[in-house]
Amino acid sequence: MKTIFEEGKEVPIIHSSDVVVLGGGPVGISAAVSAAKMGADVTLIEQYGYLGGQATGGWVILLCGLTDGRKQIIRGFCQEVINELQAMNAASLVPEGVVFEPEAMKYLFDQLATKNSIKIYFHTLATSMIRNRKQAEYVITESKSGRNVIKGRIFIDTTGDGDSAEWCNIPYEKLDRDKLLPVTLTFRLGNVNVEKAKEFFKENPKRIKDLIQVNDSNIDVNLQYGWLATLNKSEIWFDAFFIKNIDVTDVEDLTYAEIKGREIVRKIVDAVKSLSGFEDSYLEDTAPQIGCRESRRIIGEYALRKEDFWDKSFEDSIARARNMFSKEYESISIPYRCLIPKGVDNILFAGRCISVSHEVLDLVREIPCCMATGQAAGTAAALAIKHGVNPGDVNIKELQENLIAQKVIL
Ligand SMILES: Cc1cc2nc3c(=O)[nH]c(=O)nc-3n(C[C@H](O)[C@H](O)[C@H](O)COP(=O)(O)OP(=O)(O)OC[C@H]3O[C@@H](n4cnc5c(N)ncnc54)[C@H](O)[C@@H]3O)c2cc1C
Repeated sequence: MKTIFEEGKEVPIIHSSDVVVLGGGPVGISAAVSAAKMGADVTLIEQYGYLGGQATGGWVILLCGLTDGRKQIIRGFCQEVINELQAMNAASLVPEGVVFEPEAMKYLFDQLATKNSIKIYFHTLATSMIRNRKQAEYVITESKSGRNVIKGRIFIDTTGDGDSAEWCNIPYEKLDRDKLLPVTLTFRLGNVNVEKAKEFFKENPKRIKDLIQVNDSNIDVNLQYGWLATLNKSEIWFDAFFIKNIDVTDVEDLTYAEIKGREIVRKIVDAVKSLSGFEDSYLEDTAPQIGCRESRRIIGEYALRKEDFWDKSFEDSIARARNMFSKEYESISIPYRCLIPKGVDNILFAGRCISVSHEVLDLVREIPCCMATGQAAGTAAALAIKHGVNPGDVNIKELQENLIAQKVIL
């Protein structure tokens, strides 16, 4: 590849904080609020103009994995969010989990950030970091205000993609694109006769399965199961197809997926009009951002693998995830060490980029579990600030006591 030389220049340090959170998804806001509630001064950087990541911008409107099938395994910040949404009539319990209204969640997260004095930079992309030996010192940002620097004492990477691992040479795993989990563009149809549609889907599984033909081996359509009635009258949400072979850290792949996604949505929208309940339906909107399931996973102080599940309960547990591998062990614990990278002492990772194997990712990447790792990272960062230590040296007992006080289930 040809290159050019970009001349160096002075970049203004526009802000400085105890804790700087990169990425304002469900994990970022969980980490930011948890750190702020413990007294830390917190800054949050988000590339879009709202908080919530996939939950609000990818319209992943279903909170899954709150229970192990019998008892609740995630509470803490996630439960507080559910309670607040329910108070706004914007969340409801369904057999699959808790369905919520994404606009209400955006508003709620704005309020939580404001109430907890979190300094937000919207429309700001974090693009790199400057480190001094084993300490990250600055994050470089790009926005309409140009290139700027934010200084931090502790950074929490909740970008989903673990971007700072790339910038700081932190070891990570990213599979070849043909092995990565697929991406999806979700969408909503309005003016659906929901009761008739539900009945039709139940009675005609074969017809639904054969409805869409896409002659592309990289695309799987899953119309039978990939839909849900939302909280809005006459509205159905679809998470109904997978695009494979996409590396979401490659901008050309991302661009292709957005365009391909809208093409498939169009096919589905046209095809379902022939089905009972959908005769007068129309496409309300596609999600503002493509839905990404997997990219970088750091190789941290501990990497959680499938083999761990058969006998382990970790002493440094900071959250739980449901165990889909075994009927006997209903949930597993997530060690704090999965959040701690190798090579840099003052960054924590939370959300889908933590240190787990590809097989285990499916267990920890659901929003409630991701939020729980964010809560642990935020709490740990605040304790590290309080005691003047690095996150890896935080006293585990003190961290766990604080999490339990926040009603987290370990
Ligand atoms: C199609 C699909 C369906 C799913 N279904 C479910 C489901 O039904 N139930 C469930 O519980 N989970 C589901 N999931 C999983 C869940 O949505 C994600 O794993 C979860 O949102 C991960 O949270 P996160 O905060 O780590 O990442 P994200 O939600 O991706 O948030 C990352 C945030 O960081 C921001 N960001 C990234 N890089 C930068 C940067 N360099 N600078 C500034 N900002 C940045 C992004 O804009 C985003 O706001 C689904 C996921 C997908 C894609």
